[in-house]
Amino acid sequence: MGHPSVCRLCRREGLKLFLKGDRCFTDKCAVERRTYAPGQHGQASKKLSDYGLQLREKQKVKHLYGIREKQFRKIFAEAERKRGITGENLLLLLETRLDNIIYRLGFARSREEGRRMVKHGHILVNGACVNIPSYLVSQGDRVEIKEKSRRVPAIVEAVEGAERRGLSVWLKLDKEKFLGELVALPRREQLTLPIQEQLIVELYSK
Ligand code: SF4
Repeated sequence: MGHPSVCRLCRREGLKLFLKGDRCFTDKCAVERRTYAPGQHGQASKKLSDYGLQLREKQKVKHLYGIREKQFRKIFAEAERKRGITGENLLLLLETRLDNIIYRLGFARSREEGRRMVKHGHILVNGACVNIPSYLVSQGDRVEIKEKSRRVPAIVEAVEGAERRGLSVWLKLDKEKFLGELVALPRREQLTLPIQEQLIVELYSK
């Protein structure tokens, strides 16, 4: 059987978290094959307490975006500080991270790969190199792959398969120019994510 370890995270959530790049879009995906949590007793349905559900939701979001606990708390504090609905602010702060935008544009096959690309200096934002994965992209920002990085095989392969993974309506992509733009900040209903962010807000307001 031998599913790669990150697939265990998806199986535990019973949800595709898209952590393995192209494999996630094939029938090799462990979630496509099984619907129960990993481990010998995964099949038995466990009833979680409210706290358990809230905790699971937070873990799910952390795994989805590849964020560690300490950083996640900081992002949540920022979401609380901002005007508007905290849960929606949280999702917006996660979605507009540069590593996520790279993934959403199809320049990378996973957020992790997107993070590596940013760190390795392959990405320009409005013409300037940005190597901080948590950099927040703003409305109207142009995100581009550096000219000399456009020949890197992994990047070429990712961009070629971009359409297959689908493009978010709030982004614009010019594949030929390896250029994307955040046209408008996404509204909650445009983020088709299976996330109940309110549970995370409840968890932190205890
Ligand atoms: Fe593995 Fe990707 Fe499927 Fe998750 S979505 S189980 S990471 S193949």
